[in-house]
Amino acid sequence: MNEHLVTSGNRDGLENYWLPFTPNRYFKRNPRIIASAEGAYYTLADGRRVFDCLSGLWCCPLGHGNAHIAEAIKRQAETLDYATAFQMSNPTTLSFAARVADMAPAGLDHVFFANSGSESVDTALKIAIGYHRMKGEAHRTRIIGRERGYHGVGMGGISAGGMTANRKMFAPLMLNGVDHLPHTYDRAQTAFTHGQPEWGAHLADDLERLVALHDASTIAAVIVEPMQGSAGVVVPPVGYLERLREICTKHGILLIFDEVITGFGRLGANFASQRLNVRPDMMTFAKAVTNGVIPMGGVIVADEIYDAYMSGPEEAVELYHGYTYSGHPMAAAAGHATLDVMERDGLIPRAAELEPVLETAIHALKGTPGIVDIRNFGLAAAVDLEPFEGQPGLRAMRVFERALQTGLLVRFTGETIAMAPPFISTDDELQTMCATLGDAIASVTSPAA
Ligand code: PMP
Repeated sequence: MNEHLVTSGNRDGLENYWLPFTPNRYFKRNPRIIASAEGAYYTLADGRRVFDCLSGLWCCPLGHGNAHIAEAIKRQAETLDYATAFQMSNPTTLSFAARVADMAPAGLDHVFFANSGSESVDTALKIAIGYHRMKGEAHRTRIIGRERGYHGVGMGGISAGGMTANRKMFAPLMLNGVDHLPHTYDRAQTAFTHGQPEWGAHLADDLERLVALHDASTIAAVIVEPMQGSAGVVVPPVGYLERLREICTKHGILLIFDEVITGFGRLGANFASQRLNVRPDMMTFAKAVTNGVIPMGGVIVADEIYDAYMSGPEEAVELYHGYTYSGHPMAAAAGHATLDVMERDGLIPRAAELEPVLETAIHALKGTPGIVDIRNFGLAAAVDLEPFEGQPGLRAMRVFERALQTGLLVRFTGETIAMAPPFISTDDELQTMCATLGDAIASVTSPAA
């Protein structure tokens, strides 16, 4: 029994709760418990305060415990806690759809709500396939994703995604007719680049190869994260997304940006598409839209696609798809409150202002033994470590443990440590975060450290 855990009878939950994406047997021996959170800090059950270097899981840009969001949720729960999403709607959700559309690039004006990034991705893929069918091109069903892409854990998302570990256990059941573009990471070409690498735009031309192989008339959509987050902040090469856009347009293929991480300010603009000046046909979002407080996701859809669906008979359902909790009024209320605070406190411009602070502080770690690459874009950065021989991932795990002891909660996957701090961080906090991480890395010199 763990001294910091509340028990139910004689159970502390460790045997009952199966943690996602976690080595559960290892976790149970030494459970790490978060007791509370305020602003940019978590308080662990043993009383330690740690800086939340990844804004939750990229989803809490305003930090934790925001009073305006808490009040909005309370008010909504007292007024309308749930409303059926089928054949009915409610003012909070309607006005929130308008607000999300207002933030999106011109021509992307229609919002379909889901409850997570994974649901948003599967929704976008279905809308794409259905759109072509509506236009009389039912044979356009192929989806093209990208190596190392992460699009959640639905069957559509793992099929389009390129994370091998997430796919291989389920391979026989995944969608047919999915191909992958090459990822854009090549350490030999781009190590220690600040911001967008100059090298790599040509990799988009691989899409022409796939078009030649399958014929454009069979391809529904290309889906990519404008910046690959889960793969470890893989920054789009200058000109790469522009090139993908060009090729998609040329062949009548829809381009979907998975903006689950980049949406709502992470790159210092509302969406990555605005920062990078490339207009996709659909954008998925989740995470920051409600500051992570209540789950919500969705797809923002271009007018041409929406109009195609709306052209059938008026009494007919246009899209046989949706969730019990689509457009949940509680999530919409949390979303409104999140955007209120972002606007009131100028937090998206603040994220843009913090970008060079993070860039300078993180790249100052170059030269620390064990570091083989550092990348940054927007308010996100990653550090790659040289693995200990024969023990992949162990070095990053040891750094994670050391950082936690010294006041940082970082996220590691494989050999990569990723950071995406809250927009409410101060310059000092970002500098301390990077310096503390550097010390943690420098202190982990052997597997036993
Ligand atoms: N797409 C992207 C780009 C993501 O980063 C994530 C989550 N990290 C998802 C989809 C899936 O989101 P969720 O975990 O909310 O299903």
